[in-house]
Amino acid sequence: MFEANVNVKENLSLILEKIRQAEEKCGREKGSVKLLAVSKFHPVESVLEAAEEGQMLFGENRVQEALGKFPAVLEKYPQVKLHIIGQLQTNKVKNAVLYADTIQSVDRIDLLREIEKQASKLERKINVLLELHTGEESKSGFENADSLREALKFISEGNTPHIVPKGFMTMAPFTEDKEFVRKSFSTLRETAFAMQKEFPSFELTELSMGMSGDFEIAIEEGSTMVRVGTAIFGERRY
Ligand SMILES: *Cc1c(COP(=O)(O)O)cnc(C)c1O
Repeated sequence: MFEANVNVKENLSLILEKIRQAEEKCGREKGSVKLLAVSKFHPVESVLEAAEEGQMLFGENRVQEALGKFPAVLEKYPQVKLHIIGQLQTNKVKNAVLYADTIQSVDRIDLLREIEKQASKLERKINVLLELHTGEESKSGFENADSLREALKFISEGNTPHIVPKGFMTMAPFTEDKEFVRKSFSTLRETAFAMQKEFPSFELTELSMGMSGDFEIAIEEGSTMVRVGTAIFGERRY
C-alpha cells in the first residue's frame, strides 16, 4: 500500500518546525509540546517511515487496526509508544492494553474499571488521560467537571492501582469559528487546572489537544501534546 504524493519525512519536519514556531510565538519553552502522529487508516509502512525519522509517539483510533500494525512496529522500535485516542468499547480493552502505553479517550468510570482489570492481569501499568467534552458538536468525553471529578475520585480511592492518570484530552468542535475552537481548548486548560488543585497527589500535566487544523491555537492555549494525522500522513481514505 504505497501512498504516492505523500512525503512523510518532509511533512514531519514541517510540522515539528511549526510546533517549535508556535511554542516560541507564545513564549513557551522549546520542546514543551509533544507530537503524537495519528496513523489511523494509514499502512504500517507509513508508521515505519515516521519512526525511521525518530517519531516515537503514535495514535490510533481503533484497537483492531492498531493490533494489525503495532506489534511489527514495536518489534522494530521498542521505544515507540502507542496511544489509543478513539472511543473505546469495553470489550476492546483487553486487546488495547496489550500494546497501548496510554489510553487518551477515557470517558467513563466503567472503562477505568475494565482497564484496571485487564492491566492487572498483565501486571502492567497503563497511563490514561480523561477526555472532556468541550465542543457542542462532539459526542465523546466526560460531560463536565463534576463527572471528571467523580472519575478522579474513583482513581484516588485506590480502585485502580494499575492506572496512572496523566492529564486530559479534548477534541475541539469541527467548525471554522476559531474563537469557538479556542474556547474549547481554554475550557480544558482551566478545568485541568482546577482538577490538579483538587487532586494534588496526581501529576495531571498532560493536555492533549490540537489536530492538523487547529494545533497552533491549541499550543497557544497550553497544549502539551498535539495529535496530528492528515498533515503528516496525507488524507485518509475511509
Ligand atoms: C483522527 C484524529 C486526530 C487527527 O486528526 P487530523 O485532522 O487528521 O490531524 C486527532 N485526534 C483524534 C481523537 C482523532 O480521532
